Amino acid sequence: MMLNKIPFKEISRIHKECPVCDNEKDLAYGETTEILKVRGEGIEVTSKIYFCLDGGHYFYDIEDEEDKFQSAYRQYKRRKGLLQSEEIKAIRNQYGLSQKNFARLLNWGDITIHRYETGAIQDDVHNDVLTMLRDFDYFKKYFETKRNILEPDLVRLVQQNIDSIEQGLRRHTADLMIKMLAEQKREFRGAFIGETQPDYIRQGASEGYCSNEELALAA
Ligand SMILES: [Zn+2]
Repeated sequence: MMLNKIPFKEISRIHKECPVCDNEKDLAYGETTEILKVRGEGIEVTSKIYFCLDGGHYFYDIEDEEDKFQSAYRQYKRRKGLLQSEEIKAIRNQYGLSQKNFARLLNWGDITIHRYETGAIQDDVHNDVLTMLRDFDYFKKYFETKRNILEPDLVRLVQQNIDSIEQGLRRHTADLMIKMLAEQKREFRGAFIGETQPDYIRQGASEGYCSNEELALAA
């Protein structure tokens, strides 16, 4: 009867410790939906929940709580157009920067990037800066002005990565141009062949016809 009190989709049954009864009990493990408050906004999440069949009560497992909040934070970020953790990680990764060094380069607290990459919601100003830094040219310019904050060895490494990304971009642009020129050439040649082809084909065809006729006459 209690089972109907909240939406509950059973996944499995298990016999284990019920923290409410303080004893081993038959439990149903399943999913329910919950509204979590994230920065004052209600976010609906699917959460895992236990139902104690003997005691007739629900309880959450602490181990499932983390997933639930992570999922709510992801949804909140999507709703607000904020970068997701993995997008933030991707920015620094391509330049070989650790979380700590990236935070230093930005003049933010040492664990700020770590917090964002493990799911915490970044504030709007930080999100704006990170969004701009996703752009290669912007990062390159930013790095040129702030690089002295970092150790010389690291500056060299990041610079190498910037250079190789730039080379890659240049090669990509060159490839695109070659492809475009080749395309134009093909189109031009196509137009040229297009004009001459009918005569050539007619000529070939009539030759074929003639020789066939000759063969036919000879037969
Ligand atoms: Zn119980």
